[in-house]
Amino acid sequence: MKERFLILLALAVFSIAMPAGAQVKKMKIYISVDMEGVVGVVSADQLTPSGFEYQKFREFMTAETNAAIEGAVAAGVTEIVLSDSHGNAENLLIEKLPKNVMLVRGFPRPLEMMQGIDATFDGVMFIGYHASTANPDGVRAHTFSSARLADVRLNGSSVSEGAFNAAVAGHFNVPVIMVSGDDAAVKELTASVGDIEGAIVKWNAGFHSAKTMMPEAAYDLIRERAKAAVARIKDFKPYKIKTPVQLEVRFKNYRPSELLSYLSMVDRVDSHTIRFTGKDMIETTKFIAFITNYEPGLEP
Ligand SMILES: [Zn+2]
Repeated sequence: MKERFLILLALAVFSIAMPAGAQVKKMKIYISVDMEGVVGVVSADQLTPSGFEYQKFREFMTAETNAAIEGAVAAGVTEIVLSDSHGNAENLLIEKLPKNVMLVRGFPRPLEMMQGIDATFDGVMFIGYHASTANPDGVRAHTFSSARLADVRLNGSSVSEGAFNAAVAGHFNVPVIMVSGDDAAVKELTASVGDIEGAIVKWNAGFHSAKTMMPEAAYDLIRERAKAAVARIKDFKPYKIKTPVQLEVRFKNYRPSELLSYLSMVDRVDSHTIRFTGKDMIETTKFIAFITNYEPGLEP
């Protein structure tokens, strides 16, 4: 009790000492950046280091991220953590980012596309996101691994990476406030998590085709939507899912589900599908990170 009184006294003295209006309100935003939903991206030619347009599209990905940062800062955001969440997670050009942000890069990591999120953030933005593998529409639509996974379900429902990552943020009571990507990605995510701000920078015509905006127009749109999202940040609710979390993963191949079923924590649902129950989204995300990254030949 005495300690509590002293703390209250200290707080009272501190607030008297601060002149009125001197306290700047802190606002902290987490931005997870993928690449499939970046303006102009339609195929691996833009998405992988061996693609003939990859270096150019790293510039566009970085510029879209900077547009989101500019919009957020214009609306009062004071602290930003970025997460490079595509491929090798070494895509964003760090020399072209503002010096006062922090960047999470490199895979694997326990919380994957949401590494670094915690309860101190006020909101989350997704830039360059794409639709799920369960969606018949969407440029490069996939969930975590286009080569290996045919479906990811949380508590019985197929999810996109956006919805999965929104549930990770929801674990920390942080709402998703904005998404950019193709029309399918924005539509699918808003159907899952609610009426967040969406910046549609291209319209899918197939897995490897789209009608796209020009980069400068995409930056303007993303900047404007990021600013609008922060301006009405109080409107958004964290996306929380029921715990324990029942995760089902359907593999494209047969042997991953066979081998994972050797583990007593894993149930084999059918030939290609396994089920894992995580106590929360943290345990569930680490499980996904493990099964999509582990192989016995890993070096170093
Ligand atoms: Zn990606």
